[in-house]
Amino acid sequence: MTADPLVERMRAFGTTIFTEMSALAVRTGSINLGQGFPDTDGPPEMLAAAAAALREGANQYPPLPGIPALRKRITEHEQRFWGLSRDPDTEVVVTAGATEAIAAAILGLCEPGDEVVTFEPYYDSYAASITLAGAVRRPVALRPGIGPQGRYGFDEAELRAAFGPRTRLVLLNSPHNPTGKVFTRTELTLIAELCQEYDAYAVTDEVYEHLVFTDAAEPHTPLATLPGMHDRTLRISSAGKTFSCTGWKVGWATGPAGLVSTVQRVKQFLTFVNAGPLQPAVAVALGLPDTYFTEFRAGLQARRDRLVTGLTEAGFAVQPSEGTYFVTADITPLAGSTIDGADFCRQLPERCGVVAVPTQVFYDHKQEGRHLIRFAFCKREEVIDEAARRLAKLAAGG
Ligand code: PMP
Ligand code: GLN
Repeated sequence: MTADPLVERMRAFGTTIFTEMSALAVRTGSINLGQGFPDTDGPPEMLAAAAAALREGANQYPPLPGIPALRKRITEHEQRFWGLSRDPDTEVVVTAGATEAIAAAILGLCEPGDEVVTFEPYYDSYAASITLAGAVRRPVALRPGIGPQGRYGFDEAELRAAFGPRTRLVLLNSPHNPTGKVFTRTELTLIAELCQEYDAYAVTDEVYEHLVFTDAAEPHTPLATLPGMHDRTLRISSAGKTFSCTGWKVGWATGPAGLVSTVQRVKQFLTFVNAGPLQPAVAVALGLPDTYFTEFRAGLQARRDRLVTGLTEAGFAVQPSEGTYFVTADITPLAGSTIDGADFCRQLPERCGVVAVPTQVFYDHKQEGRHLIRFAFCKREEVIDEAARRLAKLAAGG
């Protein structure tokens, strides 16, 4: 017996930063602007449909690919917002959140030693899923200030250098957590060209597809809509963010039948199926009128603006956030360079009763994100205002 029974390749992954920081928030009674989850419920029509489904007996295994009504709505939604055409019978699979779709895609597509190009900072499950598959990550840094209009961007040569003969897929998250970056059409075109040059697949994580603010450099463009990408892109999304139900874990993947079937063949042995009574409710939500999606986005944009004002007044160098639930801030003006984001976040609850997340945990090259931390603004306005009042102590030297 070894002291740590966990397989060697997973040992570098401790407890996720979200779990650590949410526990810290509870322990210290702090306002939790760390883990990204809303503090209000989603659309009442969706909640009523879930309650009805529970009462009306939708409590057994749904079909492996998801219930037909939900698959149909997923394809209609993609058509309505992005002009994408997929067959609900063969080109959609419902998963246990986007997380399962990402894991099943990587496990199903990558042989040991295959390479996955992704951008860092990356959502934490990417690194773990790539490692579980025995694949290798090739991260390309997103850096503040070098993108369009002074936003986050990347170096083209670095992206080109990340591709090679072992590249199996590109794992792209746009709108991007944690930076709030929305990839532009020019950037996406380069990614698309490289995928085609190296005959790689694209797996896109678009869970924040409806959270692109009106002052973003460009609206959201799914990579699958670019020339040559429809037949090599697996597009992943989930209900959690769009309908404020992160605990439901209803996600999906759409794409060419071969890629969708790959996900399905792996996911059948991970969870098989999930969320029976929630699937019809998400189908209802996906059919809501455009006004729901516009108002949802406008509400979050207003809350982003409130938090950005508070963070700026507290003395952070706030980076522009074009989308998602999140904004990143440079701690250097407040902390100098003697302390890194992780220590800063560990001390923040004691200093002012607020929890944030250090973004360095989302990098392979930790140095790149050493000075950056992430705040979530998917909270009620009064909570954001109270957080801003508390953070103001920092400006006062607290
Ligand atoms: N991808 C990104 C970029 C995320 O921020 C999250 C967190 N919700 C997920 C995937 C996971 O989504 P889900 O909860 O649907 O598994
Ligand atoms: N997606 C959420 C975030 O980035 C957290 C999800 C989780 O806790 N795993 O904050």
